[in-house]
Formats: sequence, C-alpha cells, structure tokens
Amino acid sequence: MRQSKLYTKTRKESPADEVSKNAILLTRAGFIHKEMAGVYTFLPLGLRVLTKIENIIRRQMDTIGNELVMSSLSPRELWEKTGRADVVDVLMKTMPANKASEEKSTNSYILNPTHEELITPIAAEYARSYKDLPAAFYQIQTKFRNEARAKSGLLRGREFRMKDLYSFHRDEADLKEYYEEAKQVYMSIYRELGLGDDTFITVAGGGDFTKEFSHEFQTVTDAGEDVIYLDRKNNIAYNKEVVTEENAKRLSVDFQSLEQVKACEVGNIFPLGTKFTQAFEYTYTDEEGKQQEVHMGCYGIGPSRLMGVITEKFADEKGLVWPASIAPFSLHLICLSKEKDSEASKIAEELYNKLTAAHVEVLFDDREEQAGSKFADSDLIGIPMRVVVSDKSLEKGGVEIKERTSDTGEIVTVEQLLKTYTPNCE
Ligand code: ATP
Ligand code: MG
Repeated sequence: MRQSKLYTKTRKESPADEVSKNAILLTRAGFIHKEMAGVYTFLPLGLRVLTKIENIIRRQMDTIGNELVMSSLSPRELWEKTGRADVVDVLMKTMPANKASEEKSTNSYILNPTHEELITPIAAEYARSYKDLPAAFYQIQTKFRNEARAKSGLLRGREFRMKDLYSFHRDEADLKEYYEEAKQVYMSIYRELGLGDDTFITVAGGGDFTKEFSHEFQTVTDAGEDVIYLDRKNNIAYNKEVVTEENAKRLSVDFQSLEQVKACEVGNIFPLGTKFTQAFEYTYTDEEGKQQEVHMGCYGIGPSRLMGVITEKFADEKGLVWPASIAPFSLHLICLSKEKDSEASKIAEELYNKLTAAHVEVLFDDREEQAGSKFADSDLIGIPMRVVVSDKSLEKGGVEIKERTSDTGEIVTVEQLLKTYTPNCE
C-alpha cells in the first residue's frame, strides 16, 4: 500500500479523553477511532492487525471446531429460558426507535454479550445422536456488554471482538478430554501472538456458570485489572478471586509462597456441564436408544483485547511495536527523495513493485514529507522492519534496513534485500 493512498493519518497530540496507553498510541498512530467510551472503529491499519490476530485464532480453532457466525441480536425469550434475562448485569437491550413498534416490543431484543443461548438450540437440532458427539462450533464476532468501567481502550470495550467456541459431549470424561486439548490449542495461539512467555493458565472461579473452576489465560502486564498468584515453577497461576483458605486445601497450594503480579485476562474456558443443555432440554440418544444428558464447555478469547494487550506490552516511547505475526505490514519502505525521477525514487518504486508482486506486505511512504516526520510516523506505526532509500543510502551502496526495535540500521544492496524477501523470484 502507498502511504499517499492511506487516507488515515497519524497525529502528534494525544487524545484528551483517553488515559490508557493502548488507546492513546493506537489513536495517534491511526489504528482506531473512538466513537464513545468503550466503542471504537477499527481504521484501515487497525483492521489489518485485528484480522491477523483473528486469522491466527481461526487457524487454531479449525483444528477443534466448525466455524459459523451467529446473529448479534437475539430474542429475549431465549434468555428467559436460561434465567439470564434479568441477571446478567452487562446485558444490552434494544429500544425500538420508532414509536409504532414501541408498545409491542419494548426490550424484546438482546444484543448478545455471549452466545450460549443461541448455540445450544442449534446444537440440539443437529447433534442428537451419540454418533454426532462430540460436536464443537465457534465464531469470531462482535459482542456487546454494558461495561461499567470502559476507560482502558481496547482492553475493556462495550462493543468488542470475541472468538467463542462451544463444545458438546456425551459425558463428563469426553468434555474433560476436549477441555484439556482446548487449553493446549489456546496456548499455541498466545505463542504465535508473541505472548507465550508471559501468558499463564490460571485457575479461576466458574462465574455464574459452574461450581467448578474455570481456566483463564492471563498475560502479565501492569495494564491488567486482575491480580494472579503465579507459580512459575509449575507454570500455573491462580486468580486472586480463588485465593481462599478453602481452596488452598482443595488445590493443595500454599498461595502465600507465590508471586503476585498484575495481569490481563486474554481468554477464559469453562466446563459448563449441563446448565445450558438442561435449560433447553437438549439430550442425545445413546447406543441403547435412551435419552442422555449433554455436557457442554465454552471457550472465549478476545481478539480486540489482545490487540490492546500487545500494544501495552511491546510499545516503547516512540510508538507501537508489532510482533511480525500480526504487524499491519512486514516492511515500511521509505523514500526520502522528493524528485520523482531521481535515482532513489526510481529504486524505491522498483522495490515496491517487486516486493508487492511477490506478496510481501509493504507500506510505501511515497509522500512528500520531511525525513524527520517520515521516521517519526514509521516509529509510531511500528512495522517490524524499515527500509530507507535515499541519495545518501545509495552513495553508501544500497538501502538502509533497520529493525523497529533497534537503534542502528545497516546498508544492504537492493539485490540482497530482494533476495531476502523474495527468495523464490528471479
Ligand atoms: P473480564 O473479567 O475482564 O470482564 P470476562 O470474564 O467477563 O472478562 P469472558 O466472558 O470470559 O470475559 O469473555 C471471554 C474473553 O473475551 C475474555 O477472556 C476477554 O479476552 C474478552 N473480553 C471479555 N470482555 C471484554 C471486553 N469488555 N472488552 C474486550 N474484550 C473482552
Ligand atoms: Mg472471563
């Protein structure tokens, strides 16, 4: 992409109404646009990052489930069936805008904060026999929650992205087996996102779902709202909320010997058991033709929150720093010559054409800006590798390449650069 054709711009000033590092930097760099507290538009650069995060999640989820997309709106009756219509405090209900329908349908729709109420009847329709189980469906979708404290940018949205997976099983043992596999698939996702070393499987409460523990995936960061007790030796953590004398006995852990750190919940999985399947009278037919209870699990992960967490963890004083796996582009190609027919301009154009033809994702700064402001923008946007073509670099024998996180670059020839990034061409 040519930067002259990127219609969004960076800004020097921090937005006045943001306090979190992720919202400030992502806004300044032109990745997100605030609509109201906890509600953001993903601008072209931000969408590229979000899509990459979601595709990493999607590839992993495809190994354990079928993708679908459920509706964002649901009828209130489904939530009444599970008793959650008036219990979930973050539930958003729609108010009809037109007067005529007001009397008939006030509050009749829910903007889904999660999808157990929708998926359970769907699974009940398709997975009816022991032969159909286990079955697992997932989606990557926008969720709505009326969060009280929405001042942490992408970490806590009122409208945010979630991947949610739901699995259905013939018995508890089968659910348990799948649940353990899902844990490992989740950890692969965090590793691919560059968060593997700082993300811990964390024993947490079951919420309003289950008396059993659930498992969170907590990434250590000062920006997080949770406190976890971290057992590095055994590679496991405990959410502060489960640190009680009773649980110390139940889990045989000495909580006081563990390190307490701040962390952000980037995923949460629950062994739901039969709570939702019972509410929808969902049973399956076993080998003997008898009806049996279906055991269910749910598995959530937050792509937009992850984008915020990655920003918080990796950004430096100059701006964003993206891991290569989710960077909006692989290379930031910067031409410092303002004359269109200069040697530097010609070489930059040629590089851009050859690299993009080889499917390398290049952001090409072809604008007529000062070098200083091009470099500042490049640092702010945070593409992993910068390539500068200028009269000076050509005098030194080629182009200057520099990693975003390094202070010094090096000169390589144009041929060397092409060979590195397009090894299969020419
Ligand atoms: P929290 O405790 O942080 O409010 P939660 O436990 O309510 O989160 P879950 O219902 O477990 O969240 O949702 C699954 C995942 O979706 C979370 O692990 C998180 O990554 C993401 N998520 C939840 N709420 C939000 C939000 N308001 N904004 C962004 N992501 C969210
Ligand atoms: Mg949770």
